[in-house]
Amino acid sequence: LFRGLEELRDKPCITLDGQRVSLLVNTGLVTDVARSISHGAEGIGLYRTEVPFMINERFPSEQEQRAYYREQLEAFAPNAVTMRTLDIGGDKALTYFPISEENPFLGWRGIRVTLDHPEIFLVQVRAMLKASEGLDNLRIMLPMVSNVSEVEESLHLIYRVYHEVREEGYNVTMPRVGVMIEVPAAVYQVRELADRVDFLSVGSNDLTQYLLAVDRNNPRVASLYHSFHPAVLQALVQIVEGGHAVGKPVSICGELAGDPGGAVLLMAMGYDALSMNAASLPKVKSVIRSITSDWSRELLHDVLELDSPHVIKSCVDLALRSAG
Ligand code: PEP
Ligand code: MG
Repeated sequence: LFRGLEELRDKPCITLDGQRVSLLVNTGLVTDVARSISHGAEGIGLYRTEVPFMINERFPSEQEQRAYYREQLEAFAPNAVTMRTLDIGGDKALTYFPISEENPFLGWRGIRVTLDHPEIFLVQVRAMLKASEGLDNLRIMLPMVSNVSEVEESLHLIYRVYHEVREEGYNVTMPRVGVMIEVPAAVYQVRELADRVDFLSVGSNDLTQYLLAVDRNNPRVASLYHSFHPAVLQALVQIVEGGHAVGKPVSICGELAGDPGGAVLLMAMGYDALSMNAASLPKVKSVIRSITSDWSRELLHDVLELDSPHVIKSCVDLALRSAG
């Protein structure tokens, strides 16, 4: 098994007829990094910065954050590391910053919290930028965006930090900035959002939850939570087409990217990069290396005609099995 893993690690993620897709990893802890490298990740597509905040008993200082971020950036340099700004609220709680709401998933989450508390955002971005000195591989990603004004406000703060940090003498470059597409409003404004940033990344976990109005953590409705739902697939097509129409790369960092069938459909839709847990990476790579892009597009075409998530899932599984 390990020899197989090692052999696969250094091979490109490319279909039999030459379509390439980048495979990236989602990280949070430092320990995720070594495993990601051994599994052949080409970079980090999502570093969940809330993880170091969650394992602390108070807000980590700028210095502490800088050390966490430097570890991630150094491990993958010169490849890109995409750091998401703090995404608390919803199901992610900090004991030292309690949020109590009736509808946490529709409440104070992600960018909404950090724009209301710019001091949190500014310290975090400052730590990220300083950590990137000499490496130039930092990308910053904004979670839970539902209005273009949130992107504009965030960009304004990021520019401000960039100029301050440079004035302080740090030799840093302006990072690429991207938006997560994870609420339905962002799907309908995908071009307006893409116009303002350097890249898009789909958070399919939340996008599925919000499109289907199904709490992603509620076991009672778990059978209704389906990323292969036709509405989700249509939204995924619309997002990648919208981003590409204005010349911006589009990736995905939700669980769907780590599902071999999901990965094949996403590649067929034209996604530039798939970001997943390290454990899923070898399987996804070996499946993509065993098919042609024509085959994947035919499968996508067939699947988009279907109207039941369960039938779609079975159809994809069957197709993958018959492809070996
Ligand atoms: C997502 O919503 O798909 C995502 C990648 O972010 P998280 O799971 O951390 O909300
Ligand atoms: Mg999310």
